[in-house]
Amino acid sequence: MRISVIGCGYLGAVHAAAMASIGHEVVGIDVDQRKIDALARGEAPFFEPGLPEILAEGIASGRLTFTTDIAAAEGARVHFIGVGTPQQAGGYAADLTYVNAAIDTLLPHLRAGDVVAGKSTVPVGTASDLAARVSPTGATLVWNPEFLREGWAVQDTIDPDRLVAGVPTGPEGERAADLLREVFHPAVAKGTPFIVTDYATAELVKVAANAFLATKISFINAMAEIAEVTGADVTQLADAIGHDERIGRRFLGAGIGFGGGCLPKDIRAFAARAEELGKHESVTFLREVDAINLRRRDRAVQLVVDALGGSVFGKRVAVLGAAFKPHSDDVRDSPALDAAVRLHGLGANVVVTDPQAIENARRLHPQLNYTANRDEAVRGADAILMVTEWDEYRRDFTPEQASALTDGRIVVDGRNGLDPAAWRSAGWGYYGMGRP
Ligand code: NAD
Repeated sequence: MRISVIGCGYLGAVHAAAMASIGHEVVGIDVDQRKIDALARGEAPFFEPGLPEILAEGIASGRLTFTTDIAAAEGARVHFIGVGTPQQAGGYAADLTYVNAAIDTLLPHLRAGDVVAGKSTVPVGTASDLAARVSPTGATLVWNPEFLREGWAVQDTIDPDRLVAGVPTGPEGERAADLLREVFHPAVAKGTPFIVTDYATAELVKVAANAFLATKISFINAMAEIAEVTGADVTQLADAIGHDERIGRRFLGAGIGFGGGCLPKDIRAFAARAEELGKHESVTFLREVDAINLRRRDRAVQLVVDALGGSVFGKRVAVLGAAFKPHSDDVRDSPALDAAVRLHGLGANVVVTDPQAIENARRLHPQLNYTANRDEAVRGADAILMVTEWDEYRRDFTPEQASALTDGRIVVDGRNGLDPAAWRSAGWGYYGMGRP
């Protein structure tokens, strides 16, 4: 099928390449010329495992092209919208400027029977507004939220755990849902749940899922706060409650909290939208979820300050990790980078290392020192702060290796990913999040 993908960022570039990899003829469209030039050369403009391979394959097959010219969308039967919906400057609500612009520029190129499939995460009510603009062209708007996880985006796009399509009622909606089934044919053929619903439900599925995940993380981080004043160990607590299959252990990793381009802005936008709907009390808890999450950044920084005797001024601190999570170079609202910036603000000589995210981090915070080499970062450090769980900082970094690089003997484990016993027995002061 001919498909267009409008917006080629973390979501859209992967979506375009993944759709080509399952046999579609895809044009990826973005307003960012540099991004499009890179993609057209087969270069992934960001780090995502598996993306370079499917990009190269798609381009070589001739089924995958990229352009900044929206007219190239003409002739596609399904147009996916994957542009950004960031937090508004100076507010909590989602900024819909890019979604509106994408729809406006696409409208003249739509034909009757086309399907416009919104994938961006939007406040509930957006799709019905957009549908009113799309309908006069004879095309149908569907809302098809995206659940991919950065780091696993290729697999999640080709083989998602569920597909959701918010469609208008009646035969038009049924036809649009059928077209989407055709697009996602390998997943549909293997029996992946395909939920056809109304616009509002489809939009809410996405934000509710993110709100739930954020709440689960902040729940265990709240327990970490209690553990800190009682001497309890939150990791053992998480293991113990996680054995209850109604609770489950996943997303119960206490630490420096969540970040990235989705969870923080999505829960804020949800709260802002609920307020507009006169239902702010229904999601007031999300404010608390957000607050708990942000307090963990303070806590990690405070642990470093305390461990260094009350001041980090002039002290060298190695920050292991800049990305908001491993297997990604995304530093949007990254707790790791935030902690580094705060330590720098307190006068520390911060050296940040990350296997993939240095370039993005440097662009955002040029005031910090960076090195891609972990050992270089650790050399001579008075303290180490581990904040992104890359294997090279967690699994493949022993206290003995660290001891050979520095006389400093303080390690703050912002992700509770290190083995406290191993570090302590090697003579290190180990400080975890919610652990004695
Ligand atoms: P991103 O910033 O990486 O990409 C957005 C892209 O849209 C940019 O390349 C930008 O140049 C482009 N764009 C902006 N206006 C445009 C226009 N008028 N026409 C064409 N292109 C335009 O953002 P992202 O992380 O890919 O997120 C996109 C959307 O997907 C957001 O709503 C986000 O919440 C949602 N989402 C993201 C993820 C994720 O893991 N990144 C997962 C699920 C959902």
